[in-house]
Amino acid sequence: MNFKELGIVNPILKALEEEGYTAPSPIQEQAIPHLLEGRDLLGCAQTGTGKTAAFAIPILQAIGQQHGGGHRPTRALILTPTRELAIQIEESFKAYGRHMNLRTVCIYGGVSQKPQVDQLKKGADIVVATPGRWNDLYEQGLIQTNKIDILVLDEADRMLDMGFIHDVRRIIRKLPENRQNLLFSATMPKEVQGLVNTILKNYVRIEVTPPASTVDTIEQMVYYVDKPNKPKLLRDLVQQGDMDSALVFTRTKHGADRVVRQLMKDKIQAAAIHGDKSQNARQRALERFKSREIRVLVATDIAARGIDIEELSHVINYDIPNIPETYVHRIGRTGRAGLGGIAISFCMYEEMQYIRDIEKAIGKLLPEAPTQPYPMEIFQSETAPAPGPRPPRRPQSTRAFGGRGSRR
Ligand code: AMP
Repeated sequence: MNFKELGIVNPILKALEEEGYTAPSPIQEQAIPHLLEGRDLLGCAQTGTGKTAAFAIPILQAIGQQHGGGHRPTRALILTPTRELAIQIEESFKAYGRHMNLRTVCIYGGVSQKPQVDQLKKGADIVVATPGRWNDLYEQGLIQTNKIDILVLDEADRMLDMGFIHDVRRIIRKLPENRQNLLFSATMPKEVQGLVNTILKNYVRIEVTPPASTVDTIEQMVYYVDKPNKPKLLRDLVQQGDMDSALVFTRTKHGADRVVRQLMKDKIQAAAIHGDKSQNARQRALERFKSREIRVLVATDIAARGIDIEELSHVINYDIPNIPETYVHRIGRTGRAGLGGIAISFCMYEEMQYIRDIEKAIGKLLPEAPTQPYPMEIFQSETAPAPGPRPPRRPQSTRAFGGRGSRR
């Protein structure tokens, strides 16, 4: 199947060719025909699957075919949780629509609203927005909603996580009833299902996982380490020659700042992105990382979600996520486009159960790193206390998975 066979019009085909896309990804192949027919859609998919193009292409096509020029009332609204995602989505619309006479405007909070309002005043066929800023501008009467007939809720689970549910519901109440609705979410918690039930009508459900080959090309390993040794272990790993660019995940915002401080103390340039940083600081950190000015970016899951960084050599789980899907999502940030990548996890004693849960979810054992420069205290001692309710250390037979040697 190619893009032409999906019924995509020439100006978009030309742009896709210029982007170097030779064939649609599975989500694009499955979603585009339904979306071109005007159906509602639930897409269970995460970043890296090509979901942005899966909705951007049919939206551009639908609006482009009917566009008469002149005044441009907004026809499509894409709601997404973060500024970074909003900018990336805007860039995608602009790239795929570059041979069409359509305008995409991006609005998000944390920066002055004036340039965004000026852009809206010039006319915006498509608006990509974070919920808070959209509501702000709506309350000020700066946004017209009466012609919106396509709504996309992108990363719905993250929007709910970030407390945007009321904003999202308020926005939807102000939109015309008769519209096409698309909802994308990597996970399907109860609240998202609630949104699906109230918003989508007679919808198609499409579920895709990142291509297995992506995950298979990622080398995964675990360092079992006590908390006080994590900074030293990170420093040592970063100082080893082969770490071109590492995205380090921490559980909390404070944790992210702490890791950056520790790295800087060791003269390793690093920056953090998380929700307490201003939008500008986050964008600057991302740009410095993309341009390789800094090799280490430390992020929380929410801030990192959906950031499109190509050729990331390492993902480091400084803290193990307690939800296996989050692990899969994090490591999928490396090994993109069939390139190899390395995913390293630091596991404290208390986190061992999380490793088990992840192994169960991915159907694969996570091998222990070949060397453990800072082995766990508890494993050093012959008289280690019974772990009680905590999970016991993994049995010998499961450790040397994938041909890796083990010191113990
Ligand atoms: P997304 O899942 O939308 O964040 O897309 C992930 C990455 O895949 C982006 O860098 C896109 O530019 C790229 N991409 C999307 N669709 C295709 C395609 N059909 N062929 C090649 N690359 C694509």
